Amino acid sequence: MLIVQKFGGTSVGDLQRIQNVAHRVSENKKAGNDIVVVVSAMSGETNKLVGYAEHFSKNPSAPEMDMLLSSGERVTASLLAIALQELGHDAVAMTGRKAGIITDTAHTKARIEEINPSVMQAIIKEGKIIVLAGFQGVNANGDVTTLGRGGSDLSAVAVAGALKADLCEIYTDVSGIYTTDPRIESKAKKLDKISYDEMLELASMGAKVLQNRSVEMAKKLNVNLVTRTSFSNEEGTLITKEENIMEAPLVSGIALDRNQARISLMGVKDKPGIASEIFTKLAESEVNIDVIIQNKSHDGTTNIDFTVPVSDLHHAKTIVDTFVKSGDITDDSYNEDICKVSVVGVGMKSHAGVAALAFSTMADNNININMISTSEIKVSMVIDEKYAELAVRGLHDAYELDK
Ligand code: ADP
Ligand code: ASP
Ligand code: MG
Repeated sequence: MLIVQKFGGTSVGDLQRIQNVAHRVSENKKAGNDIVVVVSAMSGETNKLVGYAEHFSKNPSAPEMDMLLSSGERVTASLLAIALQELGHDAVAMTGRKAGIITDTAHTKARIEEINPSVMQAIIKEGKIIVLAGFQGVNANGDVTTLGRGGSDLSAVAVAGALKADLCEIYTDVSGIYTTDPRIESKAKKLDKISYDEMLELASMGAKVLQNRSVEMAKKLNVNLVTRTSFSNEEGTLITKEENIMEAPLVSGIALDRNQARISLMGVKDKPGIASEIFTKLAESEVNIDVIIQNKSHDGTTNIDFTVPVSDLHHAKTIVDTFVKSGDITDDSYNEDICKVSVVGVGMKSHAGVAALAFSTMADNNININMISTSEIKVSMVIDEKYAELAVRGLHDAYELDK
């Protein structure tokens, strides 16, 4: 079997843990498998580097950030390869560039455009273990790029797809995908299986256990994805096609996203095309918009509220400012003290009343809902950050996810 094994930050968090990972990889190799390892930076390392940059600038340049942040993964890839060599294996540490991971030029959140697997294939054929630095690629100009926070998951899935691997294992610090973040709700239950679509909603709605773009890619390329812990041999969670799951539960999980900010635009000129103009400018600047609400027009103007990831807030403000200056918007305000809780489940498609229970649960807990958005398989609510954990536990209880 060809297996891609990705080890997240905590799994390579110190030298002893890197040693443990080396032993695990070594055993898998000795069992006769071909292994490509993908590693994250040691836990906390990427944040530390971001902090260093912010010491000098509030808005550091993106190409330089990619140079900086991609270094964390090179450290762990090199160390793990050395540890494997010491265990008697032929191991080769590799950057994204060497592995043929070609991205677009959107520095700090680049998209993978293609993978040229020939170098990796040749090395695998020689029986060597590849240890790839995750989270990075190279663009057409030859500059290093990074794939967005949590992007080593994407590296692993994309490489598994390109190499047609039999399995892609994501090793982390929890034993699989739970009904909600087990650090918030200790009654959370581990799921044996979850569909790509549900996992995509959970990840997009803030469950950082898998980066959302990695799930999107896994679905597209049909990658067999398993999330499990690197601290024991406990079985993990399989992320698979909906057809492979016998009885889909009504709701499979609750997600929490604390990294959202709300932008309110007041007195927006109510003329055709204005929303399109604002949101096109934001999209061109790679700002990810989530929940949007527009109020009824009043005196020829309207109010528009939307949420963006906190990391995009600075860019969004700069763009909104240009509309305020031109007079198309009278006033703007920003709120970072919000969060988004979401209820996710494919069973919602065929059941009425799922959303109503979410709203009444908020009411029972005296939590005011600021914004709502729904899709076929999720209900999201924007609420004050201080109620985040109360809301997650309340919803987990209301949908009886501990049963
Ligand atoms: P890694 O460093 O291995 O990439 P992350 O910190 O990115 O790990 O993701 C793992 C964390 O995701 C867990 O420690 C857990 O707190 C969090 N998490 C959030 N939602 C869930 C969920 N539904 N199931 C499991 N873990 C979750
Ligand atoms: N080190 C990067 C991050 O912290 C990528 C990853 O861990 O997946 O975001
Ligand atoms: Mg992660």
